[in-house]
Amino acid sequence: MSHTFKGGVHPNYNKAPEIPVSVITPPAQVVIPMAQHIGAPCKPLVSVGDYVTMGQKIGENPAPVSAPVHASVSGKVVAVEPRPHPLGDMIMAVVIENDYQDTPCTDLAPLTEEQLRDPEAILERMREAGVVGMGGAMFPTAFKIRGGIGKVDTLIINGAECEPYLNGDHLTMLNFPEQLLKGIELVRIASHVEKAYYGIEKNKQDAIDLLNSLDPAKYGIEIVPEEVKYPQGGEKLQIKAVTGREVKPGQLPAGVGCNVVSTRTAYAIYQACYEGKPVIERIVTVAGSAMKAPVNALTRVGTPFGYLAEQCGGFVKTPRKIVLGGPMMGICATSFDAPTVKGTAGVLFFTEKEDKTVKDPHCLRCGKCISVCPMNLEPVFMYMYYSKHDFAGMEKFHITECIECGSCSYNCPARMPLTHAFKTAKLMFQAKAAAEKAKAEAAAAAKEAKQ
Ligand code: SF4
Ligand code: SF4
Repeated sequence: MSHTFKGGVHPNYNKAPEIPVSVITPPAQVVIPMAQHIGAPCKPLVSVGDYVTMGQKIGENPAPVSAPVHASVSGKVVAVEPRPHPLGDMIMAVVIENDYQDTPCTDLAPLTEEQLRDPEAILERMREAGVVGMGGAMFPTAFKIRGGIGKVDTLIINGAECEPYLNGDHLTMLNFPEQLLKGIELVRIASHVEKAYYGIEKNKQDAIDLLNSLDPAKYGIEIVPEEVKYPQGGEKLQIKAVTGREVKPGQLPAGVGCNVVSTRTAYAIYQACYEGKPVIERIVTVAGSAMKAPVNALTRVGTPFGYLAEQCGGFVKTPRKIVLGGPMMGICATSFDAPTVKGTAGVLFFTEKEDKTVKDPHCLRCGKCISVCPMNLEPVFMYMYYSKHDFAGMEKFHITECIECGSCSYNCPARMPLTHAFKTAKLMFQAKAAAEKAKAEAAAAAKEAKQ
């Protein structure tokens, strides 16, 4: 069986896993946003003047879809106020003045041997340690796994890391292979499944060989080498490549019996359960033509982008764009003061060299966007209806099924802003649905008031 999918592109990968991980000195002040996950934002648990230890829980929300946040350094809380967030806007954050002591918090003890076999204890620890989808989705992992119990028979660990530039997953495989396998085993136990499949692109053959040398079957894991093609790491495409199952439009992975968890998330689960360590740091690839050289930086959560760039050697040119994640699916940040969060796999500082924007582009009707869409969509028509704000047309061409992978934009010779348009269109659909819901609720309330 060929482990891949239809469509996709082969961008210039610009990866540098041969660069060893550098440990970044944490900044004098870390800024810990209360929203680092999909779901209810946390409420601060600390006040200005409080002393906090490294790993202490400083924000939480009891809502089921949420994940607590923890201090990434020890020191004094100097502000609890809205600060620039990597996704834009000002979001409530706890600012800690670093005392450079890294005084550890001992609230989370490593799980006992018995607890390491107990799905409920593992899930509870995932939640308490603030584990979220660290491939970028930032969905609370305990909630995701719990929701799949009884429906999911196949666990897939995503080791594609197909986005250009990013190396954190590959380096985690090479530097912590046994810990990673143990982390995957924990996800497997918590998911109540017999076997996990670890899909890894073949451009990480060294990691595939290393993991295979450690007898993954002993942990209930099979390594699945995958073709190197972007966006192999897309959730639906991983499922297709590993199992051959198709996730239909509107369907969730659990609908075809699958759950997909990222490499870095599995490693975070290992740290949470075996070491009692919450999510307070991760490997962040810092690169792009504005940087002197690429760096794979072990970075504390809450490190401002400007400080991170400085610690990684600084700029050779003034950056024009800060991209969070990879260049294909990443989002643009607007402030050097915004900090890294749990889902930050890369911070790319780009100059005009990478800016492919064309003023007033015109479609050539070449169909090259259609040939690469991994979701079998027709971007040229989606864009046409988007331009007219024609909801019926956009719906007809399934615009909401777009996974925003960027393959169509990458392959478009006219440089049409396709993916950007589809992201906006999806937001338009969300806004329309919210407005319709509000209208229906208002009408129902008015009717009830009349009676
Ligand atoms: S239409 Fe969406 S899913 Fe298809 S290639 Fe473009 S961005 Fe990717
Ligand atoms: S690839 Fe670009 S130019 Fe070609 S049909 Fe698609 S949108 Fe038009």
